[in-house]
Order: sequence, then C-alpha cells, then structure tokens
Amino acid sequence: MPQQRASLISIVQLGALLSSCAPRDAPQPVPPTPRPTIVVDAAIRTGPPVAPGLRLPAGAEPLAYDVRLEVDPDKESFQGTVEIRTRLDAATTVIWLHAVDLEIASARIRSGTVSDVAIPTARTPEQMIGLQVGRAIGPGEIIIAVSFTGHTSRDQEGLFRQRVGGTWFLFSQGQAVLARRILPCFDEPRFKVPWRVTLVVPPDLVALGNAPVASEQLLPDRRREVTFAEIGPLPSYLFAIAVGPFTLVDGGVVGRNNTPVRIAVWPSDASRVTTAIKVLPKLVTALEDYLDRPLPWPKLDLVAVPQLFGAMENVGLVTFESSILIGDESDPGFVPRFTRIAGHELAHQWMGNVVTPVWWDELWLSEAFATFLAEKVNLRFGGHDDPVLRAQLARSDALSADAISVKRALRRPIESADDADDMFDEITYEKGGAVLEMFEHAAGPGVFREVVRELVRSNASGWVTTDKLVAGLGALATPGLARSLAAYAGHAGTPIVDLTLACDDGTPSLIARARDGLTIPVCVRYPGAGDQRACALVSKLTEIALPAATSCPAWIVGNEDGRGYYQTAGPASLLLPPATMIRPAERLAIGDDLAGGVRRGEVTIAAAAKILKALIASKESYAALGALAIAGAIDPIVDARQRPKWTAWLASQLRPRLRAAALLAPRKAVDREVRDAVLELVSEHVDRGAVQRARAIIDAELTGKAAPTDDLGGAITIAAPRDGRALFDRIVKVAVATKYPDLAAALLASLGSFGPALAAKLVETALDRRLPSPPLVAALVAALRRPATQTAAWQAIRDQLPQLMARLSGIEARPLVEGLGELCTAQMRLEVAAAVEPRVREVFRGRETLGTALASIERCVTRQASAGEIAAALPAANQ
Ligand SMILES: [Zn+2]
Repeated sequence: MPQQRASLISIVQLGALLSSCAPRDAPQPVPPTPRPTIVVDAAIRTGPPVAPGLRLPAGAEPLAYDVRLEVDPDKESFQGTVEIRTRLDAATTVIWLHAVDLEIASARIRSGTVSDVAIPTARTPEQMIGLQVGRAIGPGEIIIAVSFTGHTSRDQEGLFRQRVGGTWFLFSQGQAVLARRILPCFDEPRFKVPWRVTLVVPPDLVALGNAPVASEQLLPDRRREVTFAEIGPLPSYLFAIAVGPFTLVDGGVVGRNNTPVRIAVWPSDASRVTTAIKVLPKLVTALEDYLDRPLPWPKLDLVAVPQLFGAMENVGLVTFESSILIGDESDPGFVPRFTRIAGHELAHQWMGNVVTPVWWDELWLSEAFATFLAEKVNLRFGGHDDPVLRAQLARSDALSADAISVKRALRRPIESADDADDMFDEITYEKGGAVLEMFEHAAGPGVFREVVRELVRSNASGWVTTDKLVAGLGALATPGLARSLAAYAGHAGTPIVDLTLACDDGTPSLIARARDGLTIPVCVRYPGAGDQRACALVSKLTEIALPAATSCPAWIVGNEDGRGYYQTAGPASLLLPPATMIRPAERLAIGDDLAGGVRRGEVTIAAAAKILKALIASKESYAALGALAIAGAIDPIVDARQRPKWTAWLASQLRPRLRAAALLAPRKAVDREVRDAVLELVSEHVDRGAVQRARAIIDAELTGKAAPTDDLGGAITIAAPRDGRALFDRIVKVAVATKYPDLAAALLASLGSFGPALAAKLVETALDRRLPSPPLVAALVAALRRPATQTAAWQAIRDQLPQLMARLSGIEARPLVEGLGELCTAQMRLEVAAAVEPRVREVFRGRETLGTALASIERCVTRQASAGEIAAALPAANQ
C-alpha cells in the first residue's frame, strides 16, 4: 500500500488515508488461549511433542493444497476440508501446521495405502498445532487431511463478513499471518505451491477465487459447488475468496496476454466503476513495459469491500476498500487515488506474487518495489496530481519515521507473529520506495530497470531476498553501490551526510562524511558555468571535487533534486542558493534538512529562521512548504512566554497566505499542503475575510446547500477556535447523520481544531459509541499537537483515560499514545508516564509506543531549554 500522510484537515486527504495494500494497523495480538479441539478419533499416544518456536520446523514441506470450503455469508461459521500433499525428509510422529480459531473435527495422515488418525495438540503460543500419529511415518510423500470448522472475524482477518444494505458479503484477508484462520496450513511465505480450491455456496451467490472457475455443479441440497482451476505457486497469504450477491462488471481484457478483468461490486454501485475500468489497462501496460513480462495470472478480479484498511494484492482477486474502486471524476481525488493504489496492487502481481519475500523480515522488497513501480507507472501516463510533491512528501514522512527514537531498519528481525504484522509501516513502504529511487538515480534508470527485470526473471515462482537484489545491483551497476544498498537495508535511523567546503588551497572541493558508517550515494549541485553537479559514494571522509568551481562556491545543493534518501548537515548545508537556482524538489528537501537539524539541536534557531525567511520571500509554493517544515520544527520548542512573538513573526512572513483566496480556494496540491501547514501553525492570525468566507462555506456545506468540498476541513480549522460550542455540536450532528463515511471521518477529525474550553467535550465525543474511533483519535492528537489546546487536551485525556482505553481497541489506542509525544514539559512527561504505564498492556505495542512518546517529550524539553531567546534570533523585516 502507498503510504499516507496523516493530515487532519482536508477531506481529500482523509479519503487518501484509506489507501493501503496491507494491514497498516497490525491486527490485535492473538489471545494465547486456544479454542478446545474436538478429537473424533483416538489413537496411540507417544508422549507430548515439543512445540516449535516461531518458525515451522524443518523436515516437512507442502507440495500442493486441495481445499474445500462450505461458506455462507449469512453465517458466522464455515466448514472446511484440506488435503495437503507434503514431503517428509525423515520419519516423524508429529507434523506441525499453523491454525487459529479452527475446531479440528478430524485429521488423518495418509502414506501410500495406509491412513493414520492424527490427534491435534493444543495450539502453541506461536499459533501452531501438532498433528500427532501413533507410529513413525516418512520419509517420503504423505497427504495431511483435515476437516474443520472455522469462524468469520469481525476485523479484516481470515474470512470476514460485511453488510451492504441488509445483505451480507464474505471476503478474506490472509496477509500477514491470517490464512491460518481460514484453514490449517504451512503459513509462511517461503512455502509456494499449487492450490486447488472448491467453494460450496448458497444458490444465486457469486463465488470468486484466485483462479478462473474450472467446473461447477448443483448439489442435492441446491447449493452450488464451484471448483477453480489449479493456480500457483502461491504462498498461503495470497490465497483469497469472495462470496456474495455481487454484480460482476465486465472490464474487457488487459495486457499482453489479454487477461480478462471483472469488477465485483454490489448491484447498487455497478454503474460507478467505469472510471476504474478505463484507467486499469494503462496501469497494466505500463507495468508490463517496465518489467518486460506479461501480467502473470489467468484472470483479474477487482473486488469492492465496504470497509477495508486499503487494498490487498491477492493473486487474481485484488480487494479494495469500496471508496478506492467505486467513483468517478466528480470526485477530484478519485483518479489519482485509484491510480496510485491500483498501480501498487498491480505491481505486486509480479513483485510479491511472482517473486515473494522469503520471510517477513524481507517484506520491504515486496512493498517498496510496489511503491516504487506505482510511482513509475503514474508518472508515465500523467496519473499524478503532482509527482514532485508526492515523492518529496513521501521521503519526508519516511525521514520523520526514521528520526524517532525506536529505530527500525528496512530488513529487521521478526520475533513473533505480531512483528510480521508490524512490518507494514512507513519504513517498509515510504523509506523502502525512497531508497530504491535513490539507487535508481545513482545507477541510472536503464541499468536499474535491468536489475529489477533480472530479479523477477531469475526468481520467478520463487523467492527474493535483499542479498539477491544487492548481488544484481553489483553485477549490473557497481560493487560500491551494491555495498551501499546492503548497508542501507540494515541501517536504522536518518542517514546523514555532513558537508563542509574546503577552499583554502585554491582548488575548491566539498568534504563529505556519512555518519553511522554508512556509504551514501550523494549528488550535489554548485555554481559554475551552466548547471554543475558532482556525484560520489560518500563514506567516512570523502572529498568531492568541484571541477567547474572557479572560486569558493557561494552555495551548495547537497541533495540534487531531493533524490537521495539522506539529510545534509554541516556548514555547507546552510549555504542557500539564490531562489532562481533551486529546483522545486530541492526547496522541499532543503526545508526538511533544516528541520531535521533544528530537531537534533544542530542548527540554531537564528540560522534556521534566516533560511525560513529567505524561502518564503521567494513567494513560490514549494519554497513556502520547505519554509513551513522549518517552522514546524521550531514551533514545538517555543515556550509559552515566547510564543506570541514567534507566531506574530511567522504570520508576518506569511501574510499573503493568510487571506481567504490562499486558504479557501487552493486548487494545486502544493497549495493545499501549504494551506494545511499554515493553519496548523498560525490559524489564529488568518485575516478577517478568511474567517467570513470560512463561515459561509461551513453554512453551505453543513446544511447541504452545497456539496462538501476540500475546503470544508480548512474552513472548520479557521472558524473552530472562534465559533466554539455551537459549531462543534453542529459538526457532530452532521457526522452522525451523514451516509458518507469519508465525510463523517473528515468532520470528526476536524474537531481537534477547537479551543481548550472544548477539550473535555472532545474526549466525551470520542467515548460516543455511535461514532468511529480513528478520526476522533486523530482529533485528540491534533489537539495535543496545537500549543493552544495541548495542556487542556492532555488533562481531559488523563481524566478519562480508563474510559478511553475501554472504548478503543489496542490498535486504535496506539496513535493516541504516540500523540502524547507531542507534549513538551518535564511535568507532563512525568504525568504521562504515571498515567499510561499501568495501562500499557491495553495498547498494541504499548511499552514500545509509550517509550517513544516519553523520549519525544524529553527531546523537546531538552531542545526548548537550549533554544535561548527566540525573539532575538528572528531576523527583522528588513534583514
Ligand atoms: Zn503493498
């Protein structure tokens, strides 16, 4: 899934939050108590087997699955049988399989003509059961045959049901470690084998699987038995089904193999998928061209799911949250969103589905390449609103995730099933995508494309590892780049390059040093005749020659086009080029680098404010956004006493951007980003005309006189601190009544912009069980971030913490605890530790998340103490 920025303001952005191709929010930890197993048949016991650890033990390997599931979307349980042809390397009395929430009715192990009854052991902490037989069997091929009853989940885990109108539909989600909730299986990605699947469904329902239907018959009880063609090799996490009264909309054929496409949707929305059908062939063709391979599966169904975390790339049966798939150009965000997310899921049909990460610790290869390839195809046919902006925002998000105190590398160890689910984060997607882009830039696009093609070609139907990618880059580019990539895959934290000019001996050069022992591909630009650039692999201490420099350069761009996944630091990083010499992406990258320096305490407020002012003075939107990144880094370290001076100064720099025209009608993506950042920092300084216009928009759109627009969120942010309780109540009322979940979510998220007097009311609203929790958690986090509401929000949250924890799931509570990291006093740090510590178990990854939040508060407190007199550091108007 493409990563999203969690802006709390605009509806379009909130809609975009829905995009994901895998569970961004990891599922709840599975409770350790297994359901009782029902043993039908008895056999000789040979003593309890020893449970394996996290991984299935070596020695048993699946060769093929034959699955039969009897499902009915109206029912909460389902029946299944599975036969797994398996090879045993040695004689054994127990075979381990993954299984969660399945009641085993019977199990047998067949070996030649002999069939042994197998007794399932209790489930292990690692979600396995052992099938134990009374005598040693193997080595050689066997069939494991299991009959079982399973249960649909309320979350999107394993088989799950959702209703449209009054009608139930059934869907599945196997990634990361959820196929084990559908059938007993070898649930690790390294096991890729052919699958044959049969579904028994009520008459008149559509039954979909990974493969086309091979045969179908009516059973005596009038149910239909649908058998799909054998397909594979597939890992268990890509096995998928969907059953319900779908309308199948014909999407024609796509790609070099004329692959048939259908959209599965409920009848009422069947006419609203033509835009998706129009865009899809372009995506497939662009991917086929890049990879030089046809779409590798015999059919492609895109399936709408009423509520999903985003989208999931199951082979031949890609599931989408309905708002991603159903829609048209009347929603300006629809085509860019569909293009980006469908591009990502389609890229997975090769990267992930044909070549599969061998284990969850290598997940980044699948997700980063899907992110990278989706960007490529979007660029190719102009499906992007603003590619430069998107790339830089993604890089910026990844660098922010990298800067937090709990360090995570692209390839990192998996110690539990929870760890596998927790891999779906900004590091895996956005950092992964940005790192691949950097190496593409360094190797050259043609060479890099050949590396990618060769990776798929030589590992088709098999597995990929970081080592294979590194070897490919070494063979087709240079060994130095390959070593650098290997180091990047294992490195956690922001990569930083220190830059210092050396001009003393008359031949100017740039001295570069990569921190943390990394080797970083660096490209810089500098003044000279024409457009001068120099590139080098920078490690401990590297001299970059600047051959065209005739004197000591007056400026340096340390990261050409912002393509490098690193931040610059050191004296040369402060030499800002004249406005006409900086390219758009570089304006954003320079802002981010300075912001990083401020947060780390390496750049003084005075130096940062000077560059901030110069960037804004250029009046250009990318430069303004770069400047606002710097302001966003300074803002939290300004204490209450100095805050009025700071915000007044910032508002004076931003004057034209505080008017209605800039705040309430931005049409370009970059201007919407600028608007959101301006409102986050200086919403109390917007001019009177903007307030009036905001009220008019709110009146028209909340009363239904005008359709909700992207301006509504901004308008609420402007009016909220001024209009108080009456507006707050109106927004909640509309959110409860609307039939559009996107609108409800955007409205509820906007409740974080009200003043401190409504903080307790906001917490009370978050406890209202009629309302969805995630946008209300986002509102609470926004209130924690804004200095004006920070103290009141924390007090209100603390007063109702037990109730909030009872209301929120562990996953929902996690961003709230993360949000407490926005606080910035030593006293609040103590209070947070005291209040949250006893409840840390109620939060998914609670201890780690609390630790990160406390470290973040501490960092802010330290930085605030050393910031000095802010007012004295701010350049005057004429400077
Ligand atoms: Zn993905």
